[in-house]
Amino acid sequence: MLEVEHISKSFGGTEVLKDISFSLEKSQVLSIIGSSGSGKTTMLRCLNFLERPDSGIIRVNGETLFDAADSSAKQEEEIRKKRLHFGLVFQSFNLFPQYTALDNVILAKELLAKEQPDYKARKKEIHDEIEALAEQLLKEMGLGERMKNYPHQLSGGQCQRVAIARALALRPDILCFDEPTSALDPELTGEVLKVIKGLADQKMTMVIVTHEMAFARDVANHVIFMDDGRIVEQGTPDEVFGNTKEERTRQFLSRFN
Ligand code: ATP
Repeated sequence: MLEVEHISKSFGGTEVLKDISFSLEKSQVLSIIGSSGSGKTTMLRCLNFLERPDSGIIRVNGETLFDAADSSAKQEEEIRKKRLHFGLVFQSFNLFPQYTALDNVILAKELLAKEQPDYKARKKEIHDEIEALAEQLLKEMGLGERMKNYPHQLSGGQCQRVAIARALALRPDILCFDEPTSALDPELTGEVLKVIKGLADQKMTMVIVTHEMAFARDVANHVIFMDDGRIVEQGTPDEVFGNTKEERTRQFLSRFN
């Protein structure tokens, strides 16, 4: 479903992604692990078109979404739409503080709906549909009683679950998480990981950057270990964690034992 081929990215002459290639099947979960600064976040940002790779190709369902060799204006315009294949949940939630949990979920979806040609004619109807969807997703996230709360009235774990509902409302093909529990107290980490595990059980295709090694092993079908902008090792969780081939991966994993 997702094919990433030979992605490279530099910032000011420093190459932070070096010839990254991997693929992911529909309904599978990819965990990306690696030390700080190894390029994991930059990789996710490239997938979500928040950064443009300097070289390489990104395909989803056989369709080329990005090809660094094609710099046409048409591609730029198309990329905006194609971003919607991906959802991204940030480490720091990025909720709007002035809106309730419900409105945070509604807002992004409504902005998108405004691009529909029939939006003006069906404004009220579309809003009601989006509101119903947002309520359903928040209930699924265990936040049925918290919809009218503002972010400052919610715990970090609850905020992160609102952010997940918001990403799901856009119906992405692939949901990406950038260290979704790093900003949380340990006792709140479990509730967010449980929600992500639930999405995996529902066969949501996901790419998860995480420092939670036990979770990475448990939730993923495929694991990538990155170091210094490269993929050093990739394989099934049992291969990468249980039958580690590369010395660099072994050193990294030993920190978590
Ligand atoms: P962490 O686990 O600490 O989040 P990471 O593996 O996600 O790290 P990245 O955040 O992708 O790593 O960063 C990779 C390298 O790219 C780092 O050296 C970082 O300083 C650099 N970098 C990232 N974004 C930018 C930017 N916008 N401008 C310049 N350098 C950047």
